[in-house]
Amino acid sequence: MRRVYFDNSATTPVLPEVFEAMRPYFGEQFGNASSIHHHGQETRGAVERARESVAALLGCRASEVVFTSGGTEADNLAIFGIAGEGDHVITSTVEHHAVLNACKELESEGCEVTYLSVDGRGCVDPGDVRRALRPSTKLITIMMANNETGVLQPVEEIGKIVAEAEVYFHTDAVQAAGKVPVDVKSIGCDLMAISGHKLHGPQGVGALYVRKGTELHPMLYGGRHERSRRAGTENVPGIVGLGEAAELARAGLAKGEDQKLAAMRDRIERALLQIECSAVNGDGAARVPNIANLRFDALEGEALVIALDLKGLAVSTGAACSSGAIEPSHVLLAMGATADRARASIRISLGKQNTDEEVDLAIGLIPETVARLRELSPVWKAAVST
Ligand code: PLP
Repeated sequence: MRRVYFDNSATTPVLPEVFEAMRPYFGEQFGNASSIHHHGQETRGAVERARESVAALLGCRASEVVFTSGGTEADNLAIFGIAGEGDHVITSTVEHHAVLNACKELESEGCEVTYLSVDGRGCVDPGDVRRALRPSTKLITIMMANNETGVLQPVEEIGKIVAEAEVYFHTDAVQAAGKVPVDVKSIGCDLMAISGHKLHGPQGVGALYVRKGTELHPMLYGGRHERSRRAGTENVPGIVGLGEAAELARAGLAKGEDQKLAAMRDRIERALLQIECSAVNGDGAARVPNIANLRFDALEGEALVIALDLKGLAVSTGAACSSGAIEPSHVLLAMGATADRARASIRISLGKQNTDEEVDLAIGLIPETVARLRELSPVWKAAVST
């Protein structure tokens, strides 16, 4: 069966160039990047070149990039590295669990956390950020792009408020980096998390931008790797892969690949909005170009995901980690959706490898599958018979 992958917000396929860049570091170039002999120096050079590439993608200095095991660790390092007992933290209700659950843990350690609500489009009001500030506020952590809806938060406006208040600002840019131009200076953030596998790099590697002068407590203790900010022998193949993926993402943005993704996304949305009682979650907000989150009333998103998978089309109900769970999406609930409507939603997320022909296939398959599932839905039957 032909398989089409439209779940690139869960993970992206590693690009062939990325794989080729990584390959030598599984073989002849195996040195420990901390060793002073030839083998170590070779891999040290590769790690530092990758750091330059990541820095170029984020608009920072190479010395401000800390490699981690992924987006989750980068978010955790930013949050636990800055805030602790007695501090106040501001975040939003639509963050990824890498941020939300880190904040919950902080609360259990004696930190106070304000969870800002969002409007119907999924956006935080920068005015709410200002109003939530307290003398004890240490950290604001608001994501750049939402992983379920693709909605972009007004991070530049938040950055301005933060600059006046002199608190630290972390932004989770895991779903934004490589999809939209990202520049830590114009955002005015102190910390930014990214993840390799969301931008056609490998899984299990990420990075945290840490603005020069930021006092960050490490989470791991050991050797003096990553300028004592993250102990542990570097994952050289992973880091090299992330560096190559960052280069390719930057080149892709320069070539207008984001426009191509947006055109495919818009075509999907236009076609699927022809389906009765459907809507785009996050409509009207600025969004990354590769995510379409659509609601088809009176059906279960899970059932639609499974039915489409049986036909070879991979989409999801939202965050990968919550797939399989019955709870409705916390993001859609926070945007004011009822539990039924949140459960009736699916996420279609595009990557560099997707083609117009695959889009045609999806927009042929989804309407007929929705119609078939609705025929089996007592809720739909009751709604259409009234
Ligand atoms: N933050 C966001 C917005 C994400 O979408 C994800 C992954 O889905 C993460 C953080 C966690 O990244 P990783 O899978 O690299 O730990």
